[in-house]
Amino acid sequence: MPRLQPYTLILLLIISLPALANRFANVEINATPLAEDLYMLTGSGGNMAALVSDDEVILIDAQFAELADKINAKLVELSDGKALGTLINTHLHADHVNGNSALKPKRIVAHANVLKRLSADESFPRAGLPTETFKTQLSLNLSGQTIRLEYLPPSHTDGDIIVWFEDKNVLHMGDMMFEGRFPFIDLNNGGSVRGYIANVAYVLANIDNDTKVIPGHGELTDKAGLQRFHQMMVKTLAIVEQQQAKGLTNEQIVEAGLGEEWQNWHWNFITEQRWINTLLQAEPLTQ
Ligand SMILES: [Zn+2]
Repeated sequence: MPRLQPYTLILLLIISLPALANRFANVEINATPLAEDLYMLTGSGGNMAALVSDDEVILIDAQFAELADKINAKLVELSDGKALGTLINTHLHADHVNGNSALKPKRIVAHANVLKRLSADESFPRAGLPTETFKTQLSLNLSGQTIRLEYLPPSHTDGDIIVWFEDKNVLHMGDMMFEGRFPFIDLNNGGSVRGYIANVAYVLANIDNDTKVIPGHGELTDKAGLQRFHQMMVKTLAIVEQQQAKGLTNEQIVEAGLGEEWQNWHWNFITEQRWINTLLQAEPLTQ
């Protein structure tokens, strides 16, 4: 590579800095109607949902602070001028909570473990910390709308909730579902491979063929999509366990790969290699 002259470096900086600072400049917030008063919202980061009640908007997840003005503008548009009241965080990851304070909700609801972990992160704005927490289940009646927040045992992290819009047969799964791609299981924040698979099976047993399923990442899906996701995890875990039973080392298992059938699930964040490395950390089965 040729040595860059100082002016070339300066030129590169001038070109690239605004692009870096402004990586959200061209992001649009798009709304997909799912039922009366209920929308799935996409922008950059975890998928959101917005529910319009008689006197406020309830938002599930917050994406990034840089998008807060655009998100609030979309909420005003969808609700004929109502403001964001209740913000619910499905879990602690930045692409779901970074916008918490910038969105300026009246209150923020999350699982107790989300507050615990975000409080311990000194770089997280105090104004964005959850103001109300719960441990197992919380039903909210919000002037004409009801939702039920349900904690599921450690899986993606140890603080994930799913949000049931029961009267509309819609479910927001947060990062308990990555549609069409290998999931991220955050073992450093209390996640669990077997817990994740078990939680997805639990949800499958509690929805029907008409349920609309909002995944944390990827396209709006349904029971069949969640079934495919569950099968992928069960079968790829079985592949890894068979290789372990044959006595292969972790390196050899990664080297061997999962085979052609699962290539479409590979993406830039969770590559096939990273997914195998996650599966290799599945807890031993207790018998
Ligand atoms: Zn996440």
